[in-house]
Amino acid sequence: MKDSRQLQIGLPATETVPVMVPVPTPRPYSYAVPEGMQARPGDVVQVPLGPRQVAGVVWHGETDGVASAKLRPITHVFDCPAISEEMRRFIDWVAAYTLSPPGLVARMALRAPAALEPELPEKGLRLTESRPERMTAARERVIEMAGDGFSWTKSGLAHAAGVSASVVEGLVKQDVLETVLIPPRPAVAEPDVGYAEPELSPAQRSAVEELVEFAAASQPKPTLIDGVTGSGKTEVYFEAVADRLAAGRQVLILLPEIALTATFLERFESRFGSRPAEWHSDVTPRMREKVWRQVASGEIRAVAGARSALFLPFRELGLIVVDEEHDTAYKQEDRVHYNARDMAVVRGHLGRFPVVLASATPSIESRVNADTGKYHHIRLPERFGGAALPDIDCIDMRRHPPDRGGFLSPVLIGEIRQTLEREEQSLLFLNRRGYAPLTLCRVCGHRFECPNCSAWLVEHRFRGQLQCHHCGHHEPAPEACPECGALDHLVACGPGVERIAEEVDRHFPDARTIVLSSDMLGGVKRLRLELEAIANGEADIVIGTQLVAKGHNFPLMTLVGIVDADLGLGNGDPRAAERTFQLLSQVTGRAGRSGRASRAFLQTYQPQHPVIAAIISGDPETFYEREIAERERAGLPPFGRLAALIVSAAHRSEAENHARDLRRAAPGLADIRVLGPAEAPLALVRGRYRYRLLVHGRKQSDIQSYVARMIETGPKPRGSVRVQIDIDPQSF
Ligand code: ADP
Ligand code: ZN
Repeated sequence: MKDSRQLQIGLPATETVPVMVPVPTPRPYSYAVPEGMQARPGDVVQVPLGPRQVAGVVWHGETDGVASAKLRPITHVFDCPAISEEMRRFIDWVAAYTLSPPGLVARMALRAPAALEPELPEKGLRLTESRPERMTAARERVIEMAGDGFSWTKSGLAHAAGVSASVVEGLVKQDVLETVLIPPRPAVAEPDVGYAEPELSPAQRSAVEELVEFAAASQPKPTLIDGVTGSGKTEVYFEAVADRLAAGRQVLILLPEIALTATFLERFESRFGSRPAEWHSDVTPRMREKVWRQVASGEIRAVAGARSALFLPFRELGLIVVDEEHDTAYKQEDRVHYNARDMAVVRGHLGRFPVVLASATPSIESRVNADTGKYHHIRLPERFGGAALPDIDCIDMRRHPPDRGGFLSPVLIGEIRQTLEREEQSLLFLNRRGYAPLTLCRVCGHRFECPNCSAWLVEHRFRGQLQCHHCGHHEPAPEACPECGALDHLVACGPGVERIAEEVDRHFPDARTIVLSSDMLGGVKRLRLELEAIANGEADIVIGTQLVAKGHNFPLMTLVGIVDADLGLGNGDPRAAERTFQLLSQVTGRAGRSGRASRAFLQTYQPQHPVIAAIISGDPETFYEREIAERERAGLPPFGRLAALIVSAAHRSEAENHARDLRRAAPGLADIRVLGPAEAPLALVRGRYRYRLLVHGRKQSDIQSYVARMIETGPKPRGSVRVQIDIDPQSF
C-alpha cells in the first residue's frame, strides 16, 4: 500500500498520525511520521508545538486529512510503555463529560520527559571468579559480604564488611570485584497477599465473600460499603485488594486527605508486608516520575493516592477503592472540573473491573445508586469487636449559655472535667481556623475585609495576622481602626479554634492541649507527629478543624464536643444539610473506638433541626430518607442534573454582562431551564468578580450538549472574561 502510493505520486509517502498534545485543544493535532520511525496509538512522543517541543500521545481515530508533506514530523518516540487504549478512552470520556478540552485531560495523565525515558541503570560491584594474590582478613570479609549475589556500592560494601574503602578499591584493581550495571530499584516492594491475613468477623467475612463474587462478573457493578465508623471497612476492602492482586491485577486506593496517608500506609504494610506507592502533591517530583513509570510498566502493583492518581497510566488496573467516597476533596475545581469518585466509577466501567466506594456517611448520590440497585450495597452497621458507638446528646445553648466572652457551655466544660479525671481524651471540634472570623471596630463599626475577595479577614492571633482564607492575602493584626483611628476598640467576633484553645486553657490550665488545623506551622510533617502524639495519649484535650474528622483512630478519645453544630446549616445551599450531617457524624465517630464508653455533645441553638435531630437519634436512616425525598421533590441531583457556568472578570459589569449574554444564548427547551445570572456564592475572589448561571435539567436531559450549545452560540469571552464549566457542581 505504502509502496504503491509512493509509485503513484513519486513522493516518499510518510504516514500521518493524530497526536494529543497537552494544551487546551478540542482534538488531536496531525503530525507526520518520519521514515523509519514507528508510532502506534498510545505511544508517547515528542512533537514540535509552535516554538516548543512537548510530550504528547499518539491517539486513536482519523487524522484531519492534511497531507503529510504539510505537517511537522514527530521528533522522538519515548522509550516508555504505551498509554493503553482503555486509558485513552477514559481521557476522551472525562473530556466529553466535563466539557473540557481533551488535551488538558491528557495533560493530567502525562509526566515530564524524565519519567518517559528509561531509568538509568545504577552501577554496582559484584564478585568475579578471580581471587586475590594475597588473602588478608579484611579482604576475606569483603569477599564474604560480596558473595551474597547482591550488587554493592563501594562505600556500602566497605561499611558492611567493616573495612576501609581502599581495601575494596584494591580488590577492584585485581579484578576480584567487577562493576556491573544493575536495574534501578523499584519504588516500592511488591505487596505480599498472604503476609498477614486477618481473622475476620462473620459480618466482615460475608462482606468479603460478596466483594470477591461481585468482582468476578464480566462487567462488575460498583459496590458501596456503607458501614459506621470503626466497623472494619478498611479490613474488608483490603481483602478485595488481596483478591485482585492475587489475580495479577494492579490496585488503586484513593484517599481524600494527604494527612491520612501515613497511618494508611502503615496499615497497608501490616497487612501486605510492604507499602503501596504514594501519589499526591507532597511526593517529590523525582519520586513521582519513578512511580509514574513503574505504574505504566506494571512494576508497581498498588498505589494509594489523592484524586489525581486516577490519571496514572496503569497497565492492568483491576480495582479502585474510593475511601470516604462522600468527601468533597474528590472534586477538583480548577481547569478540568471533575469528581474523582464519579470518574473512578467510569474508569472501572471502561476497564470492566470493580470499584469499591467506602463511607460511614455515603453521599446522597451513592446511596440512591445503591438503593436502586445500580450499585451493590454492603452494610456493616456495627463496630468491629463490639465497641459501642458514642451516646450523642445535644446541649441547648439557649438553656445552657456559655459564660460572658466564652463559647463553651458549662455542661460541656463539666464533661471535659470528668473526662480529664478519668485520664481520657476529649476532642473539641470547630470547623474554623484562626482566632476569630471577624474583627470589628466598636467605635465606627468598620469591618476588616479582604481587598481581593468578598470575605472577612480572619484573625490569626498566634501569627499576629489578619488573613483571607480565599486568596491568602494577609496583613499584620492592626492596633488602630483604619477608618476612624480609634485605638483599643477593635473586637474579635466569634470563635475560631485558637480562641477555643484559649478558653480551654482558662478552665484547664494544667491539661495538655493540641490544636490541629491545616494552617498549623510545620505542615504535613508536624501534623503527622501531632496525630501520633494524640494516638499515644500525649494530649488531654484536642481542639481541631475538619482535619480531625477524617479516619483517624484515637483509642483514648471518649468525649467529643461539637462547639457549633449549627455552623454550615442554613446558608442557603441545599447540599449544606448533607455536608453537615456527614461532618458531624464523622467527628462524633472519633469517640470510643477502642471499646470504652464514650459520649458526644452537639452545642446548638436549634436542637429541633432535622440534621441535628438525625445525628442525635443515632439512626442515619432518618436523615437519608428525608433528604432523598427532599431532593426528589425538587428534582435535584441525583434525580435531576445540574451544571454551573461561572463567568469571571476583572470588572463587575464585564462579568455580569457576559453572563447575561450567555443566558440569552440559552436554547429554549422543555426539560432544561437556566437560572441566573446571580452573584456566585463568593462574588469576588482574588480580585475577580464572579457570576453564576445554573443549568437545571431532568435526570435524562443531555445537559452537556445543552451547555456546549450555549457556549458555541453565545458571545466569545473578551478582555479579562473567563467562563468555567462545572458539571455536577458541589454547591447549588
Ligand atoms: P472503618 O474503616 O470502618 O472506620 P477500620 O477498618 O478502621 O474501620 O476498623 C476499626 C478498628 O477495628 C481498627 O482499629 C481495626 O484495626 C480494627 N479491626 C477491624 N477489623 C478487624 C479484624 N478483622 N481483626 C482485627 N482488628 C480489626
Ligand atoms: Zn482574599
